[in-house]
Amino acid sequence: MSVSNLAFELADRRAEEERAAGIRRVQQAIRAAIEVTISPFCDCGVRIPDDRRQAMPHAKRCIDCETFVERQNRRSA
Ligand SMILES: [Zn+2]
Repeated sequence: MSVSNLAFELADRRAEEERAAGIRRVQQAIRAAIEVTISPFCDCGVRIPDDRRQAMPHAKRCIDCETFVERQNRRSA
């Protein structure tokens, strides 16, 4: 491998690492924004699981309460 090829490969790897770090930063920022804008706790005091909050960032209720409210809505409709 020539020196210029090695330099190119190192630059390429660096760019790849920087891109990965950038993506991580964005993901952390999104997670932090969710944490700040939406309380992780349901009205009943139960902490909404992180995987549920990531799947549904606007989820304000735990699964139990969500199920309860959905059932109430269905009954009143
Ligand atoms: Zn709840």
